[in-house]
Amino acid sequence: MNIEELKKIKEKALEEHIPIIMDDTLDVIEEYLKDNKPKRLLEIGTAVGYSAICFTEFLDENGCIDTIEREHERVEEAKENIKKAEVDGKINIYEGDAVEILPTMDYKYDVVFIDAAKGKYPFFLKEALRMLKNDGIIFADNILYKGYVLSDYNKHKQRTAVRNLREYIKEATENENLDTEILEVGDGLAITKFVKR
Ligand code: SAH
Ligand code: MG
Repeated sequence: MNIEELKKIKEKALEEHIPIIMDDTLDVIEEYLKDNKPKRLLEIGTAVGYSAICFTEFLDENGCIDTIEREHERVEEAKENIKKAEVDGKINIYEGDAVEILPTMDYKYDVVFIDAAKGKYPFFLKEALRMLKNDGIIFADNILYKGYVLSDYNKHKQRTAVRNLREYIKEATENENLDTEILEVGDGLAITKFVKR
């Protein structure tokens, strides 16, 4: 991994207001990855590849990341960034809408990182659970969405997003097979594991 290039990728993304993972959220996920060295990680929402590049540092030997992004320009930039950061071969980018791509996938994942359209989170959870290993974990970023999700706020143009994030939390916390905690790091991070299956 080329750390100097990673820093440049991060700075450019921040300058361009691309919503890359926040430092405190990244710390929490990296702490887990360090101890659990995933063989296969699924990311929904690549943007320019910043988080995926960060995660490669903690993969098992020969481990890989599958990541999905629907915006062509971002996919192109992510590919360039992956080369610059010298992590080629560890990240497979799927270009297209995750809502269409996920049902065509059938791998088993140690870790899933959900970081895309908030209105689709309940669907992403369903697909993540379908492909998650028994001892796997799901991280969902932006789960508290600027605090809207846990407030009584509902008169916003983002109300569909808020409703779906609430539905995600409800499913992840009320399903007796799942154990979920919500952390107030960054924009909110939900962490879900299987209790039993
Ligand atoms: N994980 C990245 C940031 C992702 S930002 C990082 O931390 O570096 C969210 C990205 O998800 C955006 O680039 C957006 O284009 C993409 N996205 C949103 N909805 C999507 C969908 N339904 N399918 C695929 N990509 C989606
Ligand atoms: Mg995010």
